Amino acid sequence: MSIPKKYSLETDVVFVGHDDQFNSSVPPLYQTATFKQESLSNMGEYDYTRSGNPTRTTVQQHLAKVMRAKSVFAVTSGMSAMDTISRLLSPGDEVIAGDDLYGGTHRLLVYLQKMSQIKVSHYDTTDTDLVKSKISSKTKMIFLESPTNPLIKCVDVREITRHAHEVNPECIVVFDNTMMSPILMNPLELGVDIHYESATKYLNGHHDIMAGVIAVNNQDLAAKIYFIINSTGCGLSPFDSWLLVRGLKTLALRVERQQENAIKIAHWLESKGLKVRYPGLKSHPQYELHKSIARGPGAVLSFETGSVETSEKIVDGCDLFGVTVSFGCVNSLISLPCKMSHASIDEKTRSERALPEDLIRLCIGIENCDDLIGDLEHSLRVAGAI
Ligand SMILES: *Cc1c(COP(=O)(O)O)cnc(C)c1O
Repeated sequence: MSIPKKYSLETDVVFVGHDDQFNSSVPPLYQTATFKQESLSNMGEYDYTRSGNPTRTTVQQHLAKVMRAKSVFAVTSGMSAMDTISRLLSPGDEVIAGDDLYGGTHRLLVYLQKMSQIKVSHYDTTDTDLVKSKISSKTKMIFLESPTNPLIKCVDVREITRHAHEVNPECIVVFDNTMMSPILMNPLELGVDIHYESATKYLNGHHDIMAGVIAVNNQDLAAKIYFIINSTGCGLSPFDSWLLVRGLKTLALRVERQQENAIKIAHWLESKGLKVRYPGLKSHPQYELHKSIARGPGAVLSFETGSVETSEKIVDGCDLFGVTVSFGCVNSLISLPCKMSHASIDEKTRSERALPEDLIRLCIGIENCDDLIGDLEHSLRVAGAI
């Protein structure tokens, strides 16, 4: 037997291992809810798709390679991944979370606080010393995200995790890696216990499925997570698992091009005198920190214009940039978070978190970069921003 070779991530995302009786060149789709058994004394590997399905197994094993994890679980959305993880908590447990987490994550934490007596404290996670000082032997779970969006705040996940495990070896550090994807960052290698992502974004890359993934190395945690997924029935459907495998193959290629475009656009906007937030710019306050934990700045950035009215005109004036929530798609998107993805957060909390009302978020796609800059330039000129 040959020793399995270690390949780079760019190769691993393309090379999907699977077994098929006809040697199909892409994994087959088992669009079936039940599986017949040989006999009562000889049960097969699968019986019911809620508990397991060969197409879901294929995507999970493939993701385990890509996410550099021992076990990966595919579920119906990013929020479903977060819900699964939160069920590891018991009433009275103390939880620490960032103050600029994804809106849906924040909503679920508020619900848990109210309905399950989980004690959640939110802190500015860019202040490493502050977060460290709040971690105690009672801290059961920590939710981190980096860079956040649209404020693009970065977290010293390595140091916070190291400290948390020192104070309480049982503390579960959970990291939402949706903004980076495993191509740019591997949180398990930075020490976290659970790495999860919305696969609706970069992992799938085409905005044609909703999915979430959970990766762990600890086999005790893996068994608990599998129990919850099988009990609640949130495993990813066979067809969506199949589409996720297909999308994943171009992950490295997509992110490389999206990031190349994003770097050019961030510099272009900054050269026009606009205040740009992007971890690939030296002006970003955590430029060095981000570089030390990720292999690139990604493809989401935001900028301010100084006026809500101007920002609205810019968003409405673009042709190529779709006015859409979400990100990670091959197409470029533009949004005004205060009016769209973050509108559910009340104005007071938005101002407490210093979320500027005129902030425009750009999620860069794989188009020709000159076309993208041309579209932005036209829209910015018409709106009077440049
Ligand atoms: C979109 C998103 C989620 C939620 O994922 P869904 O697939 O939409 O449920 C969680 N975290 C981040 C950072 C996201 O961008």
